[in-house]
Amino acid sequence: MKKRIAVLGSTGSIGTQTLSVIDDHCDLFEVEVLTAFNNFNLLIKQAIKFLPNVVVIGNEDHFGFVRDALENYDIKVYAGSEAINQVVEMQTIDIVVLGIVGISGLNPMLTALKNRKKVALANKESLVIAGDIISGTAIKNGAQIIPVDSEHSAIFQCLMGELDNPVQKVMLTASGGPFYNLDRDNFIYVKPEEALNHPNWNMGPKVSIDSATLMNKGFEAIEAKWLFNLSPQQIEVIIHRESIVHSMVYFTDGTVKTLLSNPDMRINIQFALTYPNRVSNSIPQLDLLKTGTLNFLRPDVKKFRNLALAFKALNTGGNMPCILNAANDIAVNAFLKSKIGFHNIPYFIEKTMNVIPVIEKPGLSDYIETDRLTRIKAKEIIKYKNNII
Ligand code: MG
Repeated sequence: MKKRIAVLGSTGSIGTQTLSVIDDHCDLFEVEVLTAFNNFNLLIKQAIKFLPNVVVIGNEDHFGFVRDALENYDIKVYAGSEAINQVVEMQTIDIVVLGIVGISGLNPMLTALKNRKKVALANKESLVIAGDIISGTAIKNGAQIIPVDSEHSAIFQCLMGELDNPVQKVMLTASGGPFYNLDRDNFIYVKPEEALNHPNWNMGPKVSIDSATLMNKGFEAIEAKWLFNLSPQQIEVIIHRESIVHSMVYFTDGTVKTLLSNPDMRINIQFALTYPNRVSNSIPQLDLLKTGTLNFLRPDVKKFRNLALAFKALNTGGNMPCILNAANDIAVNAFLKSKIGFHNIPYFIEKTMNVIPVIEKPGLSDYIETDRLTRIKAKEIIKYKNNII
């Protein structure tokens, strides 16, 4: 029996790479659901190629266009965010690939877990915002989360077969992004298009900026806490420019396990879909002789202050990671629109983190409210600062 896949966020970076994996293994997988928010042209093309049972376009303005374009196909077309959430409940779905960026991934994630779906998780924000609720929902329903992100996929694979063996710590590897060697004084000149250009990984725009500021690694530390039930003290970050080693697990007996591969998201996506099995593919194998020396450095948190802010949020807990995420969203958007400089992104995030009330044990509605409030406040702070300069 082929595994039936729902690809949420099918037109994004993870979505398109997931479809490329499915295309290479059409004997193993079939597409049951495709959803996208805005990119209706690509969604229509994907639907015609993969012939899913259901297609959802998030932005309702495009519904008529998508419906008309697919009217000669046996494909149901729905629209709206709630429809994206509802299709996840379909009994015919075996695996949900969560490739939606941002807080929009939170509800579909919870719905998938409540319906005991296997979730291939690429959405970072849902675990950053409400990790306790997500891990609690997964445990309560016996649903499995298989991480897609290279670092968490590596840790997940290092832990396979380890059962209850105690973990000393995990070390997340970070490429350092495009500006790791740039002098801090020159951050002021960084342009959005330069920050969007990651040296090693092919990723969407939001993750690319977060990689350039190292916020991405901070988010990954928070994700790791929830995915692997770790304390903040058990999570460290190490800079590894070559992106060949994808994180490490230190065990209490002195053994360190790691996972090596070429930096290609399709490898992790494929593993999340075939887990616990491995199948061959046409992705080039790692050639260590060609790679040469592998280097490791201590991260510079003075230069990349976002990483320090993320660890502060991780240590504070409660709704602080949710505040961090929303403030970062607003700051990154302002940078992409050239309203603030690259060097100022952490400044605005920290200012916002300092003014939103901390809730120690938030519920889901507290997280939603924190997110809403933080976005308003962060925009106010940026606007105020821009007006007085
Ligand atoms: Mg990563």
